[in-house]
Formats: sequence, structure tokens, C-alpha cells
Amino acid sequence: MDIQFLPGVGPKRASLLKKELAVDTIGGLLRLYPFRYIDRSSFVRICEARPDMAYVQIKARVLRTDIIEKKRLSVWVSDGSGDLELVFFKGIKWTYEKLKPGSEFIFFGKPTAFNGRINMIHPEVDTVQDSAAAGSPSMTGVYPSTEKLKNGGITGKVMNRLMEAALEKGLPYIEESMPEHLMRQCGLVPLHFALRNIHFPMDMSSLEKARYRLKFEELFYLQLSLLKQKYVRSRAEQGIRMSLVGSAFNACYDSLPFPLTGAQKRVITEIRNDMKSGHQMNRLLQGDVGSGKTMVAVLTALIAVGNGYQACIMAPTEVLAQQHYKNIQKFLAPTGVKSALLTGSSKTSERKEVHSGLEDGSIGIIVGTHALIEDNVVFRNLGLAIIDEQHRFGVEQRSRLWRKASCGAPPHVLVMTATPIPRTLAMTLYGDLDVSVIDELPPGRKPVQTIHATEGKRPALYKFLRDQIALGRQVFIVYPLINETEKLDYQSLEAGAEEIMQKFPFPQYKTAVVHGKQQNDVKKFNMDAFAAGRADILVATSVIEVGVDVPNASVMVIESAERFGLSQLHQLRGRVGRGCEKSYCVLMTGPKMSKESRHRIELMCATENGFELAEEDMKMRGPGDLEGTQQSGLPISLNIASLAKDGIILNTARDWADSVLKDDPTLTADKNQLLRKELRKEKYQIKDYSKIS
Ligand code: ADP
Ligand code: MG
Repeated sequence: MDIQFLPGVGPKRASLLKKELAVDTIGGLLRLYPFRYIDRSSFVRICEARPDMAYVQIKARVLRTDIIEKKRLSVWVSDGSGDLELVFFKGIKWTYEKLKPGSEFIFFGKPTAFNGRINMIHPEVDTVQDSAAAGSPSMTGVYPSTEKLKNGGITGKVMNRLMEAALEKGLPYIEESMPEHLMRQCGLVPLHFALRNIHFPMDMSSLEKARYRLKFEELFYLQLSLLKQKYVRSRAEQGIRMSLVGSAFNACYDSLPFPLTGAQKRVITEIRNDMKSGHQMNRLLQGDVGSGKTMVAVLTALIAVGNGYQACIMAPTEVLAQQHYKNIQKFLAPTGVKSALLTGSSKTSERKEVHSGLEDGSIGIIVGTHALIEDNVVFRNLGLAIIDEQHRFGVEQRSRLWRKASCGAPPHVLVMTATPIPRTLAMTLYGDLDVSVIDELPPGRKPVQTIHATEGKRPALYKFLRDQIALGRQVFIVYPLINETEKLDYQSLEAGAEEIMQKFPFPQYKTAVVHGKQQNDVKKFNMDAFAAGRADILVATSVIEVGVDVPNASVMVIESAERFGLSQLHQLRGRVGRGCEKSYCVLMTGPKMSKESRHRIELMCATENGFELAEEDMKMRGPGDLEGTQQSGLPISLNIASLAKDGIILNTARDWADSVLKDDPTLTADKNQLLRKELRKEKYQIKDYSKIS
């Protein structure tokens, strides 16, 4: 039913609700849940109000009211414990007349600090009688709001009234959205009960039941949708059956300079089982920086080659592609498999050669960047695509790779990421992918000591760097480059590099500088100088060189560390501690930091576990902002459930979704018709990730 039919909503409010909250029906309004509740039965004393409190309610008498320069109404109130100034910029006249000195009101707002005192801007005002009359439920929902909504007269109070009307008018028309049998088995309250109590809780326990039911429903359908796609695909899509291990794999394996870790072995077994199953592999490989994913990639590629197919390894940047290519040469040497590199800066003649090698099949493994998915690249028989650091590839690019399939069945896909994604998020983002985790670092890794320092410590830092260099170690100094086009960032990098070269003068010290604005060959020259040990210090921006492997580097200095996200800091730190020397990560920050930045820096100093950091990151920022997911975004927007906090409900919901689909993969049984119908709702239409990665 159109929201306009709701008493209290005219065309103006209707269009506001639609614009600001995307609500255009009464049913839609009812599915907009409070994100908090206020206990309207309790009051905060003025002397106890603090700026770090959320919204509070006070009961106070008006002392005096002043209109200042016709622009601002200042109202002083007192509740006996102290005085408080309330400030109004709008509705001045009306409020001035309402708030007669001497009378008592209930004010509801957020305490803020101003000039060393506490005040309250634009509190909601209730008379004591009104508030008593509204009385019964003591918990009042607080709804998402915007400046425009408030200006349009849709305040918190109005919202509560609209919800009341919506329940009365709309609820009878709302049909139950969970099937009877699941409600019973999963202990869910009916939808009508849930909607009533989520908006106007009868008591705490009813609110809990309502919440559980609504969260469960949301997560259940999300998982059902993802898993259904997976079931359908694994039945329909044929994969290339790669039943051999192959001699190339064995040749490489037998000459490895180190034994594989248990986790590497386990993951390779999982991959091998996928590849020989006759179904297409769609696997996400997660592993912390330095966990040895490259090794797994090489062995996986060799399985494809051993079965007569080609494999490609795609990296997000030129430097990473080069590094991969270089790294895998030593592992490929004993196998005799021909490999090649193709990037944007490959020369035309090289390019031609590579193109023909791919077309006639003489190249078994190709490493490259986006250049690999250009239309003129033709494979003879691409059987496997390995995508490193997938979050930097756009959706479109991945689907182009997919279309390179030339042998009837789509290539197997292995997506590797070093951004540890919390399990709950992985289940949602990649609900239809299988996930492998390398949860063990190669032996002999030394923990990296992480230190936080501010500007005053810089001389001490430089001395420390000199000492390390004197011991034969190398040093990274990284500047933030959040936005590649941002001038300021380059300026700080250039100024920083200059200072380093002054403080560490040539020829005693050798400094290489690398950033995205350099020509590719300059970049490569400088990188190689550092990798080969000809430079002691590498000054670089964060975006480009994250993947470099220089075991002799023992110190990572991160400038303006407060500007980096947790997972990026962690990635950068993973560049050191790869050799046998004790390694350090120094986080340089300004003296003033936001609460979140400080928390990030403290976490970095406290733990080296990437998954722990990722969980914390998600709790702090919410999953939508989690690094590595901004581009893909969540495939669904959640109304009430939180991936960060509702992991347990998510797991339960997923198990139920799975068990429903095990019995009835196409949801054709009578009792599952409601599920089918709900899944068709736009909300649960999730992009098919398997097709794009
Ligand atoms: P990732 O790509 O996961 O960050 P890499 O594959 O670059 O990690 O591996 C990091 C380093 O560890 C490399 O120098 C690699 O040769 C080495 N390495 C990989 N696997 C092992 C292992 N099982 N034992 C010892 N060293 C290993
Ligand atoms: Mg790597």
C-alpha cells in the first residue's frame, strides 16, 4: 500500500520518505527498524550529562529564554542538579512561545561540549503531561534519520507516530514470510509479533524474540539465495575434468627447496579434488601475507598444464606481475614448462610472440596484468585462471576473463587474497564459492616488533635505521597514497624522499624511490635495485609495491600511519619478517589522532594475526567499509542483521538453508513454495559471483 495512504503522510512527506529512506509503501515503512531504543522512563540529571553520551532525556524547568540576533534561541533550564543551555536555530518563534519560563518540560537530545560547557542543540520537547499520556511502553525506537527528514518535520516523535499508524493500517495485509515448518524448527516468532515488538517492544524478552526472528529471516534468505545458485551451478555447469597430477607437478614438487607447510598441503589437496571432480572449481584461497600462496598457485597451475591445459595467473599491478613471474621461474625450471609475462608495458614484438605462443599452446603458464584480458589475447585451451588479490579487479574484468573459455567448459577459477576476510563476511560475499584458508606461516618466521612513534622520535628512528643498515639490513619507508591522483600525497612522498637522502647521504647510503607516476622502466630499475640489495632504503607509496618480496629487508616504516586502514597496515607489515633477522614495523603518526586511528595503531602493536585484525576492523567500521570490499560491495543490504555481530545467527541460518536445499535443491516441494516466492523479492536478488570471479 502506498505510503501516502498513511494518516499523517501527505505527498510532501511521502516524497521525503522515499528520497531519504527509500520507503514508499506502508509495508516498507514497517521494515524500517529502529537501530536503538531509548528508555523513556528514566532521566539523566543535568550534572551527569557528558558529551560522550548518546541521546538522553532530561526533565527540567525553564529559567529564561533569549533570542540572539534573531538567529538563535538560547534556553536555560535547570533540574536542581545543574543548569543547561538548549540551543535552537529553527522554529525559534514557536519554541520561544512554548517554553515559558517557570514551566517544566521533558527534553530529549544529545549532550554536546561547547566552550567547556555542556549544551544541547535542537532537543525534542515534550510536555510532562504528553509524555505521561504516551506512557505505556517505556522503550521507544530510534529510527535512521537525516537532516532533510528532520527539516521536513519527520522527527523521531513523528516517526514513532507513523509507525503506530502503519502497524494499525498495514499489518493485517502483511503475510508471514517464513514457512510454518521452519518457524517451528528454528524457534521463530510469527512476523506480526516480530513487527509489533521491534517497533513498540512490550518488554525486553519480546524485543529479543522479535530481533532474532527478523535477523534470522534476513540472513536465512541471503544464504538460501547464495547457496541455491551454488547448487544450481554445480548441477548444471560441467567443469574440465583434470584427473592427472602430471609430471610437471611432480618435477616441481620433488625439487622444492623446502617442505610445504601442513596448511599448504591441505589446500592443494582441496584444489586437486575440485579439479578432478568434473565440476568447475570456484575457490577462494585466503592466506595471510607471507603464508606461501604463490607456491600453491604454481602447483595448481602445473596440475592444469599436466592435464594438457593452459593456466593464467593475473596480478593487479605491473610490479606484482613481474615479481610473480620472476619468483615462479625457479620453481618452473625443473619442469620444462614454458611461461611468459604479459603486461601493459610489454613491447609490441614481445607481445606478438606471447600472443602466438598462447594461441598455439606452446606457452603453458602466462603471468600478467589486465593485458591478459584484452580481446586480442586468444588461448588455445585455457583451463585455469588464478587471480591474485582479487579485490582490485573489477567485475567487468573478471567476466572478460571468464569469456576466454575456449574448450567448451569454463576454466577453473582460483581467487587468492591476502586480505583476511572474516568468516562471516566471506560466507556472504562469497557464499557460493568454496573457501580454503592457509592458516599457518612457513616455519622460521620471526615475529615483527611493531612500534608506534610520533615526530619527536624521528632522530631516534633515523639512528635506529642507520644501525640496521650498518648490520646489512634494508629498510622500507612507505607514504600513504590513498588516492592516486592526490597531489598532496605525492608532495609528502617527494619531501620525505628528499629528507631521507639528506639524512642518509649518498654514497654511504643508497636510496631508491618508487611511485606510480614514474615510467615503468624507471620504476622497475629502482625496484630491482632494492630487491637485489643495491639500495639500502626504498621510499615508496603504498599502492604500488605491496607485493614485493625482499627477505633482507628488516624494517618497515609507515609514515602517516593514521591514514591507513588496518588491513593495509597489516599488508605492509607483512613485507618484513620474511628473512631470518629480527624485524620491525614503525608506525609514524601525528600527535593528534581520532579515537579510531588510535585504536587501529594500538591493535597493530598488539597483534600480528591478520584474521584478528580483520574481525576488529569489521567491528570498528562495519563490513560495508571493510577494505577490499568497497569495490564489490556487499551483495545485499541488510536491514537488521549485522555481519560483524551476528555470526552465530548467520551460521545457524546457513545450516538451515543448506539443509532445505539438500532435500529440495530447486525448491519445488509444496512446503517450500513460500521460500521460492520470498527469494524472488528484489532484496534477495544477488549478483552471481561465481560468474564474475
Ligand atoms: P604470499 O603470497 O602468501 O604472501 P609468498 O608465496 O610470497 O607468500 O611466500 C612468502 C615467502 O615464503 C616466499 O619467499 C616463499 O618462497 C616462502 N615460502 C613459501 N612456502 C614456504 C614453505 N613451505 N617453507 C618455507 N618457505 C616458504
Ligand atoms: Mg603473494
